[in-house]
Amino acid sequence: MNDSILDQPATILVVEDEPKLVRLVETLLTSTGHRVLIANDGQTAIEMAAIEAPDLVILDLLLPGAIDGFAVCERIRGFSSTPIIMLTARTREPDKLRGFSLGADDYITKPFSARELLARVRAVLRRSRGSSEPAGQIQIEDLIINQATYSVSVAGNEISLTPTEYRLLLTLARHPDQVIPHTDLLSEVWGAEYRDELTYLRTYIRYLRSKIEPDPTQPRFIKTRSGIGYYLSSSNQD
Ligand code: CA
Repeated sequence: MNDSILDQPATILVVEDEPKLVRLVETLLTSTGHRVLIANDGQTAIEMAAIEAPDLVILDLLLPGAIDGFAVCERIRGFSSTPIIMLTARTREPDKLRGFSLGADDYITKPFSARELLARVRAVLRRSRGSSEPAGQIQIEDLIINQATYSVSVAGNEISLTPTEYRLLLTLARHPDQVIPHTDLLSEVWGAEYRDELTYLRTYIRYLRSKIEPDPTQPRFIKTRSGIGYYLSSSNQD
């Protein structure tokens, strides 16, 4: 990891209508060198995400008007793979899973500390920027990961992955046929502070399978070692 590259200032779009919270988040992010754009409603958020192409979107779920945070997330995912952190007062698990299913990369529950916000922002930017390791091509049967272009294809068909999905697949693909424990995958892909967030991992394994497996119910690539972890199988025999 090369910190000087990974910690470069980012352009961050903050989507929130509560002035006090907007000011707080803006102050925190600009004090760490980031450029902050603000949208107070869903429609403005979608337009700014399209025009400004931010490096990260911090998105509140509860917004005024017809377009809520879930809809904003879904619309942004229609044209961009920029990482999205959802922000909400709600703590219900279904909201979290719905956010993930619409392509959110992480989730922060209000109230949050400055430290927590900055840690999540840093972790998500790190994930989306990837590492500075030499980029090459990894091929496992007809699954091809091109690390130079961050692109993935299966049987010649380009697969669209979010940054987090890509990192997870890459982590598995770098050690084919080797079971990687849950905690190691969580630490590597999400960051050390996420090592016990098994729900994140299970949810993302499901999304990855739905995108890369010919039959997600009978995974050919991503195999489960029950109670231990996952591995990427290099052959179709087991
Ligand atoms: Ca709000």
